[in-house]
Amino acid sequence: ELVVKDLAHRFPGTDLLFEHLSFTVEPGSTVAICGPSGCGKSTLLSLIAGWEKPVAGSVERRGIARTGWVFQNPYGVPARSALDHVVFPLLAKGMTRAQAAPRALEAMALFDLGYAAERSFADLSGGEAQRLMLARAVCSRPDLLLVDEPTAQLDTRTAHSVSHVLGNLAGQGMIVLVATHDADTRDACGRVIDLAQYAPADDEDTTTLDDLPTVDAAREVTR
Ligand code: ATP
Ligand code: MG
Repeated sequence: ELVVKDLAHRFPGTDLLFEHLSFTVEPGSTVAICGPSGCGKSTLLSLIAGWEKPVAGSVERRGIARTGWVFQNPYGVPARSALDHVVFPLLAKGMTRAQAAPRALEAMALFDLGYAAERSFADLSGGEAQRLMLARAVCSRPDLLLVDEPTAQLDTRTAHSVSHVLGNLAGQGMIVLVATHDADTRDACGRVIDLAQYAPADDEDTTTLDDLPTVDAAREVTR
């Protein structure tokens, strides 16, 4: 269970991105985090992952032992195969290659990537690399999966199928949070949190222009 209570965040020198954000997510749910560019979607994922400390409020990850993350930009080792990218984290957990490979291939098939298993990372298209990152994250069977803009680089049809897979992951008892602009992805999620609704009312910066002295007032001062 993920419990977010009265969360607010700002970076040094910036305005509050959001405030009074509270929600609870039960295992087996997929939630879309929506809102315009710059509203703090990626930041919220970092706060939930525990990488960033909120300026107010709290994040509790009850019963969550493993957190997986899929970044906005795919990254990998250019000369290594796609399959290796999914297999390596499993080897690091102590599996043998014989145990890891079938499981990795299964996860790749879920994202329709089986055909690219032996291609080097450098040869993958942007969308293939993005789906590879998803397959890798899912393969480790995290309790909580944080996904940042998974469909940004995909064509409509692939985006639709990836959205669908993400929507269904929750069926395996995971909590999946997806930061997204994409309406299709949002619709595939069981629930939507619109960060724009938690943006603070901006009374601070509307006053700044009015507070500037008028030309006449400025002359008064210098006279
Ligand atoms: P997008 O849809 O474009 O990915 P987003 O909703 O994910 O946007 P964030 O990446 O969370 O937005 O960033 C929210 C705001 O905070 C942005 O204005 C960004 O420039 C700013 N920001 C992010 N990280 C930092 C940081 N480390 N220091 C200062 N400002 C930051
Ligand atoms: Mg972002």
